[in-house]
Amino acid sequence: MTSTIGSTVLGYPRIGPNRELKRALESYWASRSSEAELRAVAHQLRVDTWRTLDGAGLDSVPGNTFSFYDQVLDTAVTFGAVPPRYTELGLSPLDTYFAMARGKESVPPLEMTKWFDTNYHYLVPEIGPDTRFSLSDRTPVEQYREARELGVSTRPVVVGPLTFLLLSKPEEGAPASFHPLDKLDELLDAYAELLRELRRAGAHWVQLDEPAFAADRSPAEMEALRRAYRGLGDLDERPELLVAGYFGDLGEALEVLASSPVEALAVDLVAGRSAAETVPMLRGLRNKTVVAGVVDGRNIWRTDLDAALTTAATLLGSANEVAVSTSCSLLHVPYDVEAETGIDPQVKSWLAFADQKVGEVVTLGRALREGRGAVADELAAARDAVTDRARAERVRNHRVRARLDSLRPENARRPDYAKRREAQEKSLRLPPLPTTTIGSFPQTSDIRTTRAAFRSGKLDEATYNQRMRDEIERVIRLQERLGLDVLVHGEPERNDMVQYFSEHMEGFAATDNGWVQSYGSRCVRPPILFGDVSRPEAITVEWAKYANALTEKPVKGMLTGPVTILAWSFVRDDQPLADTAKQVALAIRDEVHDLEAAGIRVVQVDEPALRELLPLRAVYHTEYLDWAVEAFRLATSGISDSTQIHTHLCYSEFGDVIDAIVALDADVTSIEAARSRMEVLDDLNGVGFARGVGPGVYDIHSPRVPDPDEVADLVRAALRAVPAERLWVNPDCGLKTRGYEEVEAALRHMVSAAGTVRSSL
Ligand code: GLN
Ligand code: ZN
Repeated sequence: MTSTIGSTVLGYPRIGPNRELKRALESYWASRSSEAELRAVAHQLRVDTWRTLDGAGLDSVPGNTFSFYDQVLDTAVTFGAVPPRYTELGLSPLDTYFAMARGKESVPPLEMTKWFDTNYHYLVPEIGPDTRFSLSDRTPVEQYREARELGVSTRPVVVGPLTFLLLSKPEEGAPASFHPLDKLDELLDAYAELLRELRRAGAHWVQLDEPAFAADRSPAEMEALRRAYRGLGDLDERPELLVAGYFGDLGEALEVLASSPVEALAVDLVAGRSAAETVPMLRGLRNKTVVAGVVDGRNIWRTDLDAALTTAATLLGSANEVAVSTSCSLLHVPYDVEAETGIDPQVKSWLAFADQKVGEVVTLGRALREGRGAVADELAAARDAVTDRARAERVRNHRVRARLDSLRPENARRPDYAKRREAQEKSLRLPPLPTTTIGSFPQTSDIRTTRAAFRSGKLDEATYNQRMRDEIERVIRLQERLGLDVLVHGEPERNDMVQYFSEHMEGFAATDNGWVQSYGSRCVRPPILFGDVSRPEAITVEWAKYANALTEKPVKGMLTGPVTILAWSFVRDDQPLADTAKQVALAIRDEVHDLEAAGIRVVQVDEPALRELLPLRAVYHTEYLDWAVEAFRLATSGISDSTQIHTHLCYSEFGDVIDAIVALDADVTSIEAARSRMEVLDDLNGVGFARGVGPGVYDIHSPRVPDPDEVADLVRAALRAVPAERLWVNPDCGLKTRGYEEVEAALRHMVSAAGTVRSSL
């Protein structure tokens, strides 16, 4: 007999409502506090979380949602997948764990990458033929007991075995034919052991997360899914199993799981077309509990509870039990909207952060069980908020809408590249292999303090402006001394490449405390894009003009592209993303035009998040890429042929976005390439890319200063794939996280290497 789930959430933030974990971690890493002190903070955060979730009235409280760094890393450690280079360090278990996350002296950390299409990053486990899985760490069991002592019987959440292996990579030196999935059966034995121990400890339910099946999967992977859950389901001593798929619809995997012996499935009924695709398939799940993810776990809007209830109610009668939940873990939203005091009260009344979403789920659970009447007040309040938001004047800007309506395709097209190129050569007169940087220069603590003092009102505007100008002048003089060809102003005035622009545009709101974990102790505070976007006045022009006047060399204007602005914000959910992207594009376009009018001849529009927003399923790729590319082109068209547009993408593995990169039609594209030794250039040639390209020749992710010969070798390697007329020489990315000493030396070596190769052309 299955027990009910009722109302639940799939996960909860863990960094602490006031980033307590961040502080505790950083203090421990800096040896300012002991392991015991760190553990005490962690324990208190867990206790607070359980009390909050239980106290709010959830029927089933998720457990094991705490992590010192990352849940995928936790899973690797739980099952003993710790590469020998870390165990050999001979550290304590906790320090071994942190060595995997952050590296230790000469031992590099595990690779870090994006968690599906979110802004969270996980650590990539390394699995080889000799990896021996075993239940090596019992944190999930210990934390189950810890909660039990407080009277809360949690539902431990663990990354599922398939998702774990699919996110892993083969260890270095593994045979080419080896795939981590080859180790599934051994891993399942270790999972079985964990499930048994959790059952013995008293756990009724365990949640296994399988978001990897919201993406396209091969028949072999589907078959592995079938085998895994048949096996786990058939164990004789185990808790009931809830398998959670999120970030999209489970597609075929839903049928596979439906025919497995697991007791419950959690489905995302919010992401993309998920609900429409999923609901009909769920109607056949007679003997399962369906956990309907009707509250968006990734965005910050109050839920339309009537609509959510209707969706959940259509499933009643077809499943064994219909439970309600968030669409995914609440890890991706801040804790509590009540902590916001600075935000406009009307906008605030439309928002729900993690704690409010927990409340919404509880309300929906009661409505399903006891009828709408039992929660009539809550439903009415939600309805009022939804109506108020839909009607609000501030969400609509008629000028922006009219402008969008009048756009024609030609507004997002530039004349032929050949023509532009000729005009740009005349105007810029650059040497072959021109050198430049990606935009930011090191952000010294002095710059940060100055910005903070200005924000808090301790520094007046005139003094602030003067300090920034002094910094810009220093950076310009440094670049002149180094002999760079296209200069930048260095971006000292920017805290963050998205936040800075959002603060200068209409349609965005900022939070005071809306922190979301990005990785480890790092948090971001995404702006909230709530209404039509416009740019009341020029944002970057004064700084760029100032820099430009200081030098004879061309100064490149620096902007963030529309897709990246969307990707790193919480975006409105009341219109297609494509429409929002166009509005942001128009604002950026105004800025490009103003920069041009101010005499700036080179403008860079960064799109490092282009690949990040790519939908998980290939069927949606074209639609996304079409509007993403169109938005970039809208932002960068309508200018003189002689104005050179650059773009910067942070990565070099383009995969499915490679054709889109050609379609952006930027005059110059800079990309990361130092670590992959220019391989990316062949990929670009393969799709007929024939514009300027600046493959990074200096890896800015490391403090190491490459010597001139090394850089020259990379430039020569690039020349094998790209003719000299199209090749630029630049670092991999912005320099803001680096120190001046290394940056000066590295740039000096870069310029001298470019000179050496240039003279041999
Ligand atoms: N122009 C930005 C900088 O240099 C680009 C940063 C990025 O690509 N993430 O900092
Ligand atoms: Zn970058």
